[in-house]
Parts: sequence; C-alpha cells; structure tokens
Amino acid sequence: MIIPKTKEEIELMRESALIVSRTLGLLAKEVKPGVTTLALDKIAEEYIRDQDAIPGFLGLYDFPNTLCMSPNEQVVHGFPTNVPLKEGDIISIDCGAIKNGFYGDHAYTFKVGEVTEEVQKLLDVTKASLYVGIREFKKGNRVGDVGFAIQNYCESHGYGVVRELVGHGLGRKMHEDPEMPNYGKRGRGKKFSEGMVVAIEPMINMGTRRIMQHADGWTITTVDKKPSAHFEHNVALVNGKPELLSTFDYVYEALGIESDEEKEFRA
Ligand code: MG
Ligand code: MG
Repeated sequence: MIIPKTKEEIELMRESALIVSRTLGLLAKEVKPGVTTLALDKIAEEYIRDQDAIPGFLGLYDFPNTLCMSPNEQVVHGFPTNVPLKEGDIISIDCGAIKNGFYGDHAYTFKVGEVTEEVQKLLDVTKASLYVGIREFKKGNRVGDVGFAIQNYCESHGYGVVRELVGHGLGRKMHEDPEMPNYGKRGRGKKFSEGMVVAIEPMINMGTRRIMQHADGWTITTVDKKPSAHFEHNVALVNGKPELLSTFDYVYEALGIESDEEKEFRA
C-alpha cells in the first residue's frame, strides 16, 4: 500500500533527509587514506544524535551500526570495520536518520584520494543515472519508467545493473511501497501520484550485475570482484514533479565541487 504524504509531512521528511545530507557532508571531510570506517560511523552517530534524531539503520533488521559502509567490490550493506581505507579505494556510505518519526535515507560513493579513470567513470555514470531516474518520477509515469531509464543509461555504458536490491517508498517506515527497481519496462508497474516520497538508489557494477551475499548475512559483493557504486536521493512528488528532499550540496561544499545537477529538482 502506497502512503502519500501531506505537505506538512513532506516538510518533516525534508528535515530528516537534510540531517542525513549534512552527515554525509561531515563525512566527506573525513574520508581519506588511513581512516577506518568504524571511526566514520562514530562521527555519524554522534552528529545524528546531536540533531535530536536517531540513527535510522542501527537496530533496523538487527543491523549493528549507524552507517552501511561498502568499499570497492562491496555493493551495499557492508559493516564499518577497523580496516583503514587506502588510496584509490571507493567507499559507498549509506546513512539513515529518524526525526519526528520520519526516515531520511541517502547514500554517496566517495573516492579515497585519487582513483583510476575507469573507476571515476563508474562514479560519474552511476550518479548521472540517479538523476536520469529521478526525472521520470513524475505525474502520469510508473515505477517501470524510472527503472527503465536507469537501466538503459547504465547498460549503454556497459555496466551491470543490480536486480536483487531496489529503491523504495519512504516515510514512517524505512521501506514502504512501492519497490523502485533500477531496471524495468516503460509504462509498467504502479502509477506515481501526488505526495509520494521515494528513495531512488541505483546500485551499479563496473562488470557483471551478478552479486553474492556473504556468510555474515549482510555484506553484498560483486561476483567478479569489480567495483560497484551507489548513490541515493529522497524525492517527493509535488505539483506533479519530482522535488529533492535530500541534497549532495554539503558533500560538494566539503570537497570543493561546483555542481548544478540538483537545480531542476528544487522547489
Ligand atoms: Mg540507503
Ligand atoms: Mg534506501
């Protein structure tokens, strides 16, 4: 069952999303060779609690940490560890927060120092595919239109689009209807309607789309051990159009990146 949000609820959800956005901005300054993902997890938990919010993942389905930390060939759902990041790694950081009873949930894949051209392209294409998908989240469209657009864009670059993990509706629960796959057929699936809030989150592999789950029951990696990237935004359908609730602005500010990629999705 899809639960549409009122204007007031959407404003509360923006607050939750922005707590996550600012957390990612804070982490952007700390991601560098030598830092451990457990240290980053502590920074995130402290910041979220300082905002009178609750880490959204901690304890959810028994997940033990604040952040999902998935380096290199890990796709999503990795645990923070004591292993230091090293030059040339990428690290996908997924973060959730609950404020006023609503979830924010978004993700960014960071570079650790300099990465190869090949890896840079994976990051660029995956992030671009996120906006390609968001553009289709509009009145009259359906779930399959978003999935088709992301799949088509990423596969045209020769990348593997993960099937087993998908985006989702978002609200008082972290995972609400509808599921938002990153693949699909035009005109198929549930129809979008005013007030819907979704998390759109392409998980894109440099090589095969095939993945495997580790014995820990959480960590997902690519079968061919090639890297995978993950970017996620929270988007509301307002006046028939997609409106971003989350932002990468804080990340870009920390990294000195100029970008107007979110402009068309602003209120
Ligand atoms: Mg997430
Ligand atoms: Mg999500």
